[in-house]
Amino acid sequence: MPSSSPRPLAVVGGGIGGLAAALAAARAGRAVTLVERAAQFGEIGAGLQLAPNASLALDELGVLADVRRNAVLPPRLVMMDAVSGTEVTSLDLRGSAYTDRFAHPYLVTHRTDLHAALLAACRAEPLITLRTGLTVTRAEQDGDHVRLSFAEQDEVLPADAVVAADGLHSRLRRALTGEGDPVCSRYVAYRGAIPTGRMTGRMSRAAADEAVMVWAGPAMHLVQYPVRRGELYNQVAVFRSDSYTPDSDDWGTEAELERRFATACDAVRDALPLVARDRRWPLYDRPPLQRWAYGRIALLGDAAHPMLQYLAQGACQALEDATALGRALRELPDAADAFTAYAARRTERAGRIQTGAHLFGELCHLEGMGATMRNLALAHRSPADFDDLAWVWTPAPDTVAAPAATASIGAPA
Ligand code: FAD
Repeated sequence: MPSSSPRPLAVVGGGIGGLAAALAAARAGRAVTLVERAAQFGEIGAGLQLAPNASLALDELGVLADVRRNAVLPPRLVMMDAVSGTEVTSLDLRGSAYTDRFAHPYLVTHRTDLHAALLAACRAEPLITLRTGLTVTRAEQDGDHVRLSFAEQDEVLPADAVVAADGLHSRLRRALTGEGDPVCSRYVAYRGAIPTGRMTGRMSRAAADEAVMVWAGPAMHLVQYPVRRGELYNQVAVFRSDSYTPDSDDWGTEAELERRFATACDAVRDALPLVARDRRWPLYDRPPLQRWAYGRIALLGDAAHPMLQYLAQGACQALEDATALGRALRELPDAADAFTAYAARRTERAGRIQTGAHLFGELCHLEGMGATMRNLALAHRSPADFDDLAWVWTPAPDTVAAPAATASIGAPA
């Protein structure tokens, strides 16, 4: 339902969450101005897993076919023991048990490809204005509107309401909640995608297999999967640093990476030299937040639910946020009402996934007897058994559009 406000809805942040939110709001008939602090829109050079809840959201936003064109549909999701090199458990992502349960595909994509698809859709949408090089410093609510101030200029942007999609370190969230910094997990990631052509032997065969491989080891793991139609291979090496200190960046170094992975099997050791080392990514989250809507300002994406990446759901949840927000804006003309409805639909589910991501990380990083028990417990699990993950991969019913969306899993888009 279009708003009667002469002012646009402002979205702060042009990451995956912000672009998806802008698109969803425009599809609900709202004029949107999106402001991004970077001089140019972009994403980092690494991969992203998109579970069926995310591909459903992309379908609702009308960009699934575009994303799918450059993505890979992995046949299997495999957990390996990183020390013994043996398979712990796997899921068949293309078989009938999957397709009977999930109407949408499990995709792996390069972040740039997903971001570019969302950006292209935003650029093609007449109701969306995109602005870069603007860092929001303040959002002041004033009766029926919000005024946004920027670091780069004196101009104030009056907005009907504001969606804060400004990421993990969200300035707007801190201003609204009074919280401090996100919580550092003491784990760090090294990640990036390399041309598949650079790989030989075992690595090359792994890439050709197209599976998502999760090598779980003591306080470390390695994730591997192909992206961009198989032309690139994404690798993420994650480990706990023993030298973490809150006041320094001198922890989680490359030397520690080598030491932590020293006990890994040959397949993991072969892969390590090809893991990107140009930047280290400390991993943060926050406990679930009960309140996402503050009058005419609402939180979305990592700003609302920063989570550890172990369930590969941060971006998936941001996409779910966007479609839930779009639905609320379609139903309720007043943005503050729509924000309240959106938050009511999303907080509990996203909070459970934040908590679940923590637990799954612990399961991955078990050592000694704990790892042995995990492997035994999972040994007889069928590749067709999705019971443990179905709740994560299935949005709550009132966040799903009716009728159900259109994608099919088998045929390439
Ligand atoms: P961001 O991507 O952080 O975007 C925020 C944007 O806001 C940025 O463009 C920033 O420049 C802008 N901004 C910030 N402050 C301001 C301001 N004051 N004014 C204007 N603009 C501002 N998720 C998955 O679903 N699947 C995965 O496989 C997966 N793997 C991951 C692996 C790792 C190692 C990590 C660390 C995360 C992973 N995630 C994954 C999580 C996912 O990357 C994030 O949840 C997602 O990218 C968050 O998107 P966002 O748009 O909310 O935030």
